Amino acid sequence: MIHPIHNRFYMSNCSYDDARYVMFGVPYDRTATFRKGTRYGPTGIRVDSIAHFEKYLVEYGLDLDDIPVYDAGNLDVEKLTTAQMVRKVNLYTRKLLKHGKFPVMMGGEHSVSPGVATAFDDIVVLGIDAHSDFRDIYEGDKNNHGCAMKRIVDKFGERRVMWVGVRAVSEEEHKSKARLITSFDIQKNGIDWTIDRINRTLPKKKMYLTLDIDGIDPAYAPGTGTPEAFGMTPFDTKSIIDAFAPRLVGFDVVEVSPPIDNGTTTVLAARLITEAIAAHYLASKKSQR
Ligand code: MN
Ligand code: MN
Repeated sequence: MIHPIHNRFYMSNCSYDDARYVMFGVPYDRTATFRKGTRYGPTGIRVDSIAHFEKYLVEYGLDLDDIPVYDAGNLDVEKLTTAQMVRKVNLYTRKLLKHGKFPVMMGGEHSVSPGVATAFDDIVVLGIDAHSDFRDIYEGDKNNHGCAMKRIVDKFGERRVMWVGVRAVSEEEHKSKARLITSFDIQKNGIDWTIDRINRTLPKKKMYLTLDIDGIDPAYAPGTGTPEAFGMTPFDTKSIIDAFAPRLVGFDVVEVSPPIDNGTTTVLAARLITEAIAAHYLASKKSQR
């Protein structure tokens, strides 16, 4: 089921059995609209993750070797239809959850994320994205990356899903703006307001965070298939990760496209994965005390 890989994510430091966090890649980009290349995302993030060569996270005073992480490799999905791919991702995620693991998925295009998110029950889902990916069907395919959040809403209901950083939606996608926080809202009101609004809007449930890298401004994350100006900053993104880390049950980074990157997007994605794992690990240690 899993392809062997030559490079593991730099935090991978133990076996599957000993790991609390299991990372896996889904190198799939068949439905990409504008520029393809996200199939190289997982490998690009892994290879460039060694840019962060310090095993110490200064902002937390945390030694990364204390966190049990295993990078399992890539799911073999390249020849599958979207429906087959989503099902494979879903089955694999369910296996991880049965074994008590915290899944960290690297895409691939956004069509991959519903496979992970819908493996959970009774959660809320937060999407960081320039787009709302809320079409019911796109180019004849309900599993197109432009439908990713719609498929997630199909399972959990619209009241349990929120979008942050959006700035490119079609009018018919969102009759109501109640669950959208645009990048313009964040710029105007600040990140604390943003976090507060998410807290007040979503039910107080466990949370899955799906990070479409194009939610971040193309100045910081140019290596993505559908870049959109006026994006979020990496600091704002980290603030959201930190704020919701205690509630996180899973995390993904999608839409990183190394062939059109200048070498910064992969490094940023690797650091944001580090931040999500570290913030969740610290929050869970605190709650045990
Ligand atoms: Mn997306
Ligand atoms: Mn997007």
